[in-house]
Amino acid sequence: MPTNSPKSQHVLVLNSGSSSLKFAIIDPNNGHEVISGLAERLGSEAPSIKYKYDGTKTAINLKANEAHAETINTLVALIKSHKLDEHLIAVGHRVVHGGEHFIQSILIDEDVISGITQAATLAPLHGHANLLGISSAKESFKGLPQVAVFDTAFHQTMDEVAYLYALPYKLYTDFGVRRYGFHGTSHCYVAGQAAQLLNQSLEESNFISAHLGNGCSVCAIKNGKSVDTSMGLTPLAGLIMGMRSGDIDPGLFNFLTTQLNYSAQQIDDLLNQESGLLGISGLSNDCRTIEEASLSGNQRATLAIDMFCYRLAKQIAAYMVPLQRLDAIIFTGGIGENSNLIRKKVISQLAFLNIDCDEEANLKARFGQQGIISTKKTKIKVIVIPTNEEWVIANDAASIVKEL
Ligand code: ADP
Repeated sequence: MPTNSPKSQHVLVLNSGSSSLKFAIIDPNNGHEVISGLAERLGSEAPSIKYKYDGTKTAINLKANEAHAETINTLVALIKSHKLDEHLIAVGHRVVHGGEHFIQSILIDEDVISGITQAATLAPLHGHANLLGISSAKESFKGLPQVAVFDTAFHQTMDEVAYLYALPYKLYTDFGVRRYGFHGTSHCYVAGQAAQLLNQSLEESNFISAHLGNGCSVCAIKNGKSVDTSMGLTPLAGLIMGMRSGDIDPGLFNFLTTQLNYSAQQIDDLLNQESGLLGISGLSNDCRTIEEASLSGNQRATLAIDMFCYRLAKQIAAYMVPLQRLDAIIFTGGIGENSNLIRKKVISQLAFLNIDCDEEANLKARFGQQGIISTKKTKIKVIVIPTNEEWVIANDAASIVKEL
């Protein structure tokens, strides 16, 4: 049983998805995860929770149809049974969409809830789940401060030249239609870590960070601030992802509706759940499966990887325009942190930037190991940094609580 010093302070971090709930209790001072887990298939016939505590992994089946509120109750009972609630100072919520209103993490009160509700019209699926998580946690952890940490906040430094779409301006002024960008917590964290690794100040650093997980995005970071990013109004835009198409010709909508009788919902499903690596390979959205299939000669798997890398390299190259000078390219997220193959293919397409991959370092920087994977003579560095969004959320929540 891990021991807690009487002074240890922890934050419960909640990341509510539409049918899942990721949770962790974290020491904000060092990022140590006391307990972490994932509740999945919420609201279905067979929801379950898997968690890791004190080096042991446990799985529990939840009651059929159990959703966020009941799951948080189960979580409370679990936390209390290990006496982990005694050290909690706050609950930190990952909130996907903060619109233009939220430019930093904030203590949740009624005004903040109505701001999040308003922003949720731009991302209904995520927004609704986030609000459910907040209301359930407020009910179950009465008296504990709740803090919202937004995926969009880091990108609020973008200039209108970068964030506006070339649509009638009224759509922006009246309905907030613009590029917001996501994965901000991750891009911000890895940029800070990269500056430390290079021993330079973040405020003087220019980076391009590629967060490559199930969702993928690239961010251009100038003097430590986001100046452009590949996701847009929603997390569907930009790069090829596991199941998401990324950028497509918007004329496709007309073709699908008039020629193939698709409904709006069918188009949404097609672009969000049937496209990307899965759509091209016809095999899986999981990069590992596709890499294995490609190695065994599956041509569509190879095509999916090649398309993924080409689009990513093109997006990185495009961000030389806002940056002009680049200190490092950062890889993070499940693919960015682990796939030496994808990293090598992307780097080779950026050879005109005079960057080169150090094969040995590329193999070493995997499975949680950070490192510089470009060769010593390369001026622009290529760096792998494992992301830790949960720690950022815990840290932000703890800092806000300290100021109360
Ligand atoms: P999420 O966006 O859901 O947090 P992750 O950041 O965990 O997702 O990334 C999941 C992706 O990372 C999957 O496509 C998975 O195949 C990929 N991945 C994990 N480990 C490896 C690996 N060793 N090689 C290639 N891809 C990997």
